[in-house]
Amino acid sequence: MKIPEKILFSKEQIENRIRELVSSIAEDFRDREIVIVGILKGSFIFLADLVRLMYEYNIHPQVDFMILSSYGGSTYPSTMVKIERDLSISVEGKAVLVVDDILDTGRTMQYVKERLRWLEPEIVRTCVLLDKPARRIVDITPDYTGFQIEDEFVVGFGLDYNGFHREKPYIAVIQNPESAD
Ligand code: 5GP
Ligand code: MG
Repeated sequence: MKIPEKILFSKEQIENRIRELVSSIAEDFRDREIVIVGILKGSFIFLADLVRLMYEYNIHPQVDFMILSSYGGSTYPSTMVKIERDLSISVEGKAVLVVDDILDTGRTMQYVKERLRWLEPEIVRTCVLLDKPARRIVDITPDYTGFQIEDEFVVGFGLDYNGFHREKPYIAVIQNPESAD
């Protein structure tokens, strides 16, 4: 069945915003050894756009990924977070930029920050395409945010519902995702 959607941010809006983000990241991270840590799977498109633009700003990071799983339903991540795949390159003494698609309850990002602290990076900063502050449970604010959104379930630009919609070049709200298929 076709799920009704409402477009929140167009391809052009997202492109422009990512350029602004990279411009501030470039200023803050200049002259450091940088590791970009992407949280899979949702961050992969956002991260690819960020990293490609970094080249234009003369920023030359290493890139690594973590896969985390949260127990529970697909729409509302529940309490427990587990590492499915950890980092494979050293971040010791380096500047780390953690990139995720969306900050919701904040549990995933807090877990990643705690994990990273053990690896003794020089600094850790966080960057998310979307921030949904209404649902925050953990006290955490991203250092770089693309857009703030209301408490709605969104898909597109890497974000999925049941594994689908990631390829969409825009971000859209889908209604009642739990009863949609
Ligand atoms: P948190 O740990 O901050 O609650 O959850 C973060 C993760 O939940 C995100 O990385 C994402 O996978 C998922 N998530 C939270 N809100 C949404 C949403 O509106 N749409 C989609 N597709 N995933 C979401
Ligand atoms: Mg995610």
